[in-house]
Formats: sequence, C-alpha cells, structure tokens
Amino acid sequence: MTEVDVQLRGVTHQFANGDTPITALENVHLAVPPGAFVSIVGPSGCGKSTLLRLAAGLLTPTAGTVLLAGQPPAQLRAQKQIGWMAQRPALLPWRTIRENIALPGQVNRHPGAALSEGAARSPDDLLQLVGLAEFAHAYPHTLSGGMQQRAALARTLATNAALWLMDEPFAALDELTRERLAEELRELWRQFRPTVLWVTHHLAEAVRLSDRIILLSARPGVISGEIPVTLPHPRDDTASAFQAVLRQARAILQAGGNGRV
Ligand code: ADP
Repeated sequence: MTEVDVQLRGVTHQFANGDTPITALENVHLAVPPGAFVSIVGPSGCGKSTLLRLAAGLLTPTAGTVLLAGQPPAQLRAQKQIGWMAQRPALLPWRTIRENIALPGQVNRHPGAALSEGAARSPDDLLQLVGLAEFAHAYPHTLSGGMQQRAALARTLATNAALWLMDEPFAALDELTRERLAEELRELWRQFRPTVLWVTHHLAEAVRLSDRIILLSARPGVISGEIPVTLPHPRDDTASAFQAVLRQARAILQAGGNGRV
C-alpha cells in the first residue's frame, strides 16, 4: 500500500493580482500522517482552496515547501496518486456513469500499486460500493446532484489514489443528502485508507468526518488552531461530546478570525 503523508513547511502563497498582491496563506506548517482524515476549516476566502491546490501541485508556493510522501506534488500527480473532488462533479456529459468511472483506466491495472483494498476493484464493483449499480448506463445529467457526487466518488476510488484532496464536494447538496454521503464517504475511507484533506466551511461536517480539524483564520490564512477528534463513528451531532468539539472549534475561529463561520 502506498502511504502518503502531507508536509507543508512555512508555506506562504501570494497571488499577483495587479498592483495589490493578495496573501492567501502565510507561514503555514502542517504535517498530516498517512491515512489520516483531516479537515481544513475557515471562513470564505481564508485560503482553504489555495492550500488544497498547493497540495495538489496546481500552484507553487511563494515561499516554503510542500512535500507529499517526501516528494514534490508534481511527482505524485505524475504517478496518479492524487484524487481530486470539487463542489461540482466533473463528469463527462457524453459518457455514461460507468464509462466515467472506467475513465481513469487504472482499475485492475496496477494491483498492489496503490491502495490495498481498492487496487482490484472493477468499475462495476465501484458502482455497487457507491450505490449506483442500477445507474451504470445513465448519463450524468439524468442523475441528482447527490448521485453525481457518488459517481465522482467512485471515479476517485477508481484512480486508486492514495491522497484525496476534497474541496467541499458536498457543498451544493441538501443537508440530509450531505449527511448521508458524509457517512458513506467515511466508510469508504475506512476501507481504502487514503490520506484525506477535506476542505469545508461547514464546522459540523468537519467534526462528523475527521480525525483532526485544522482551523484557518481569515485572510491571510494562518493556522489558528488544531483539534483532534476522537469521538467514535458514526458520530451523533446531538451528543454533548460532539457539541463540545463544535463549541471549541467555533471559539477558536471567532478568536482568530472574523467569526463568520
Ligand atoms: P477559500 O477556499 O478559503 O474560500 P481561496 O483559497 O479560494 O479561499 O482564496 C483565498 C484568497 O485568495 C481569497 O481572498 C481569494 O480572493 C484570493 N484568490 C484566490 N485565487 C486567486 C487568484 N487566482 N488571483 C487572485 N486572488 C486569488
């Protein structure tokens, strides 16, 4: 099994933006061990997506270093070890769900090369796993938003990526679908054990899903706190222990930022 840890060392990122550069992130230090599920939370514009794009190697930091399994992100991208999910599932509209999932073209090809359990799964197995077996031959536009994100999830699994970078993939879904998918995603993570960086501005979702929450302050984003979450799964958001973590996170965000979260 490929294990990918994520290291950000003194990472600053500035966007040129004409004459007035924007510092999106400042001196961020982050160490995420292999197989961890870590949420990055903070108000809009605090640099969460920037952090994720830096981790993916889609942006190069102005200062500092990003290392994935000790290598520059481009290296891991070239090895197809990075799975990416965004708010809108980027499914190809002219391909069926099954064809979209088969697209990464790696399923069954590198058994043992990446994730242990994920390595040998066929597109049909993956469709089954995400509850879309009956919709294999449907086209993306005929499915609901939640089903499209399930398909995108199956495609992420099909890449056998050891690192999942997820930029609010459930943000456009209604609350109930969002909660259900969060539970399913957590279960898939348990089976496949990738390293996950999960960006959200939804605090309860971060508490529900992750082992550790990294809190970013308003721009320029600096890490204002970290909270380990050790509650058992599935997590009950009405439980007092859950609410206590939520309060702790909210207090850090309000002290370190503009309190809009
Ligand atoms: P978040 O994901 O937390 O909402 P982003 O990482 O998208 O925040 O953005 C952080 C800050 O950087 C914001 O103020 C945003 O306007 C700015 N920003 C993001 N991308 C660019 C860009 N390509 N050029 C200029 N500024 C940008």
